[in-house]
Amino acid sequence: MKSTNRRVFMMQAALGGAALTAAGAASAQAMVNEKDPQAASLGYVADTTKADAKKFPKHAAAQKCSNCQLYTGAAGAKSGPCSIFPGKQVAANGWCSAYVKKA
Ligand code: SF4
Repeated sequence: MKSTNRRVFMMQAALGGAALTAAGAASAQAMVNEKDPQAASLGYVADTTKADAKKFPKHAAAQKCSNCQLYTGAAGAKSGPCSIFPGKQVAANGWCSAYVKKA
């Protein structure tokens, strides 16, 4: 009986640990990599000044993720979520060709 209780406790501890790990992963989302196929196809750069001017002549240095309609990061944060890249974070100073000026 005693060993059964111990086993149940160990299982609960293990499951609790797994839940904590999952919560930690959600709050520390990976950054979008410029080389990811979707990011590359949209010309995403972590620094808006590095956007390809030849490929994207309408790009302006004032355009960046932090003032894009699709960005939902907190004001002043260095990075935040973008609905184009679910589950990842984009740099506040980043840019991609899907940029839409925040209203
Ligand atoms: S859609 Fe907007 S927030 Fe998302 S990566 Fe492009 S410029 Fe940044």
